[in-house]
Parts: sequence; structure tokens; C-alpha cells
Amino acid sequence: MLLVVNAGSSSVKLALFDCGEMRAAHNVAELGVGGHQGALAQGLHALGAPPIKAAAHRVVHGGDGLTATQEITPAIHAQITAAVPLAPLHNPANLACIDAIARLHPDLLQYAAFDTAFHATIPREEYSYAIPADQGLRRYGFHGLSYASMVRRLHPNLPQRLLGMHLGNGASLCAILDGRSIATTMGHSPQDGLMMGTRAGAIDSAAVLTLARRHGIDGAEALLNRQSGLLALSGSNDMRAATAHARAMFTHAVIRHAGAMVALMGGLDAIVFSGGIGENDAPLRESVVAALSFLGPFDTYILPAEEERQIALDVAALT
Ligand code: ADP
Repeated sequence: MLLVVNAGSSSVKLALFDCGEMRAAHNVAELGVGGHQGALAQGLHALGAPPIKAAAHRVVHGGDGLTATQEITPAIHAQITAAVPLAPLHNPANLACIDAIARLHPDLLQYAAFDTAFHATIPREEYSYAIPADQGLRRYGFHGLSYASMVRRLHPNLPQRLLGMHLGNGASLCAILDGRSIATTMGHSPQDGLMMGTRAGAIDSAAVLTLARRHGIDGAEALLNRQSGLLALSGSNDMRAATAHARAMFTHAVIRHAGAMVALMGGLDAIVFSGGIGENDAPLRESVVAALSFLGPFDTYILPAEEERQIALDVAALT
């Protein structure tokens, strides 16, 4: 069995795979005093202490160098650690789980799959920011495992110009041309692009600076990352509880950014909707499809997000 670990800043999701098929899953939604290590032990206990042959981790940020699913050697561990400043909430959670499993099972093979990896193909004009190069900042893009999974599932009838929409609590769009990412709405961090459950999405950098002057760097970070988006507009980060204005803003953001993605692909052959909102919110899908209908006929798919399965298949392909 392969244990797939999806560790967030405040949760740990575990899934067991056998030959690419999920056999069991358990989510530990709240971290107790034991932190990630305790949550992992609790989850493994709930799964009945299964015999595990290997573990694979969803790692949010691979930095510049980690662009493929691979075994976690000491060198790869060091590179994931080096990417902590790029994903200060996520990569430490991933490392905590990697280290906890290494302590529990020192000889177990462990793998890392990166949410940034699918976007390694975006061109320079897409990943560059128009700021002095010595600042070393660039766009990376996220939700890559979800987009890779869409491409895999649409084979062998993969549309040439595919607009991927991962609309969950975090939300992004990806322009997928011939199966490769050429542009995406999230940037240096997951905060760019669409409005989300608790994130503001794209916002004028001068407005960010104003917030930083008012609240300090950490206060502004918390406000933009955890207190904005649907939560700020409706009092809940759940789309089902959104006010008409919040729904209108979310829909507007999807259409606005979809236009940019489609222009970069030179047209549109199909949209894939995924994530909790993309899968379940039919009125939102209808509004988006209607707004883009001027582009001519295109196909629409609804594919449940399958990031854990994508990781399991990536690892199976390596072994
Ligand atoms: P995450 O990004 O945390 O993995 P999900 O992809 O599970 O999140 O999406 C969670 C979101 O999906 C919820 O916050 C909620 O807004 C939305 N959602 C779930 N069901 C529905 C529904 N029936 N209609 C609209 N939105 C829904």
C-alpha cells in the first residue's frame, strides 16, 4: 500500500492506494497538541495501522528546481526546506509529516509531488514580474496536481486549448495548451488571481502596501490570506452561504481571468470545472459558460479533483 499524505497548515489528509486505486482515506481536520506528528499518528491509527510500502507527500512548493514527482533523498529534503520562505504556511507542514514518517519508519521510501511542478512549462514572459531581476521573484503557479490529473483523464481526447478551472476553497485557472501549462492565475504565492474562500486574490500592490502600513506585515498577510475573499463578503468561506454580491464578484473574477487565459491560448476548445465549487455549483458554471459563449462552441467537463490519485499514479510510474 502507498500512503498519500496531504498536509495543510491546520489539517492532515491521508489516503491509502493499492495499484492506483484508493482503498481508504481519513482526514484529521484539527491539529491537536501533537501537531502534524500527532495528527499523522491519529490518522494512521484510524486507518487500522495499515502495512505501508511507501509514502508520498503533496508538497505545495518545489521552488525553481523541483519540477517532477521524486524520491525524497537528503538533497531533495534540503530543497523542500529551501523553499519554505516561498510557502511559509505549507512547506513546514509537509516537512513535519515527512520527518514524522521517517521517525516512525526509518527505512520507508518516501516521495514528494509538487503543486508547482505542472507549471514548469510556463514561458518566461508569463513567469516574470516587471520588477528588478535581482529581487529574485517570479510566478510559480499552484494546483498543478489537479491540472495534471485533468490532462491525464482527458486523454486520448485531450482538447488542444483547455481552460482548467480548479475552484475550491483555493481557486485558480490554468491555460493548458497541448497538455502543457502556458499561463495560470496564481503567481509567486497562491494569493494571486481569483477571489477565493478566504483570500482576496489579485489586488493592487499599492493597496497591499496601504494594508501593511495599517496592520504591519503579518497583520496584512493574515488579512489578505485568511480574512478576505468570500469570508469577508459573506461572513463564511463557503460558497453555499455566499451573498448575491459575493457570488457576483466570484463569478466576475472567473470570467475576467478566463478571458486572459483564453486569449493566451488563441481560443477555447474545452473547459474543465473542478474543486468543490466547480463540481457542485451549477449556476456558477452556467454563468461562466454563458459569458464565454462569444468564443464559439466549446466542450464542458466536470471532473472531481483527484490530487491524491494523481500522486499515487506518479509514484507508481516511478517504481
Ligand atoms: P479545498 O480547496 O479545501 O480542497 P474543496 O475543493 O473541497 O476545497 O471545495 C470546498 C468548497 O466547495 C467549499 O468551501 C464550498 O464553498 C464549495 N462547495 C461545496 N459544495 C458546494 C455546492 N453544492 N455549491 C457551491 N459550492 C459548494
